Parts: sequence; C-alpha cells; structure tokens
Amino acid sequence: MKRLFVANWKMNSTRAQARLYARVLGERMGVSSGDVELVVAPPFTAFEETRDPEGRWALAAQNVSSHREGPFTGEISAKMLAEAGCRYVLVGHSERRHLFGEHPPTLAAKIARVREAGLLPIYCLGETEEERITGREEQVLASQVATLEHDAGGPLVIAYEPVWAIGTGRAATPADAAQAREILQGLLSGRRDVRILYGGSVTAVNAQALLQGSGMDGFLIGGASLDPSGFASIAGLP
Ligand code: PEP
Repeated sequence: MKRLFVANWKMNSTRAQARLYARVLGERMGVSSGDVELVVAPPFTAFEETRDPEGRWALAAQNVSSHREGPFTGEISAKMLAEAGCRYVLVGHSERRHLFGEHPPTLAAKIARVREAGLLPIYCLGETEEERITGREEQVLASQVATLEHDAGGPLVIAYEPVWAIGTGRAATPADAAQAREILQGLLSGRRDVRILYGGSVTAVNAQALLQGSGMDGFLIGGASLDPSGFASIAGLP
C-alpha cells in the first residue's frame, strides 16, 4: 500500500493562496506523485483552487455533517463533499472533539455519512497528556476505536495524533509512535485495508526519523503543510 501524506490547512488560506499553493506543489511534483499518495484538506471555500486537474493529489474535507440533509444551518453534507470532488474526510480531529464538543455518537454518524457518499474517512484519535501520564493511553485508544464498531467497512485511514503533540512543536518520539501503532494494530486486527498515520508537530526535519522509526504508513500534517515545498519534502518527494 502507498504511504499517505495528508495536509490539514485548518482555518488557513484564502482562495488566492490556495491557487498559488497548488501551482507550487504541482511544480515540485512534476508529472506524478510516484510511490506516495498526497491529500490536501483546504477550507471548503478553496476546494476548486486546490484541486489538481492532473489528479496528482486528492482533496479531503476537514469536517462533515452527521446529518444527510435538511435544516442544519451552516453544515455541509457528505453528498455535497462528494460532488465537490473530495475523496477523504477528516473525522474526530482533536480540535473537533475538544473545541467543538464532538462525541462518539456524532463521530460514528459522521463516518456512516462519509461511507454512504462513497468517501473515505480519516479517523483521528489520540490521548491527552493527562491520559498518557496516568497510564491510560491504551484504554483511551480502545474506546476511540470502539466508535468504529458499526462502521460498514471499506478502506480506513486512522490518524494517531496525541493531543499533546498537535501544534506544540513536541512531536512524539519514533518509539512512542511505534508503540501506539502496535496498540492500534491490535485493536484493528479484524479489519483489512487499514493505514495508520501519525500526526503531531511533524516537520521536514523530523519526518524521516519518525517515519522509519515508527513504521507508520504516513503522516497527517498541520502547520508544516501550509508550505507546499515543506509538505513535498515531508512526503519524501525529490
Ligand atoms: C493536525 O492538526 O492534525 C496536526 C497534526 O497539526 P500539527 O502538524 O501542526 O501539529
């Protein structure tokens, strides 16, 4: 399976900035993405500018409604995302869980909507610092994986993102990430076609050591992905 690198822009970039980003990333990539898969998750407003007409990277949405359609002001449905050309959808990002109070039933419903629309979920999970210090990492990961209990199945991407590493400049060590990967592999052993990514303060400087030392299938990258050249370097492009 190809390694997967996902750029999560969060609430950054205008359409003009997205257009420039796509141009620079395209120049950096040349004719193909080679043996890696690249995905960019811009704000909804910049999908059109971020799309690659040559298909060298795919689009992801940073969020989706847990409802199919109807009177839900401000929400975007999975069907709308599919029509807008998305392939992946982030579900369960720690900012959605902690800042917007998204709980397991909502996340399970979002994953169901994503599947119905023929899209692929990138399900994010990870422990807080307190949960780690008190030795509850495994228990927390198990309860977060349990949200997938009713998932209809199909290819799945898991992004292990320890909350204490997101946007802090304190990436997990390769050994810590490898340990989390092993726990997740055990929890997901009944499933096929699963890729496990690491996310949390990945940069062009720490990427290679993290990738090799953790055995992860790629990264979900926030801050460092805002620079297209940095994103390409993290993905190992020449
Ligand atoms: C993220 O938001 O998913 C993330 C990993 O952010 P950062 O790379 O900035 O830590």
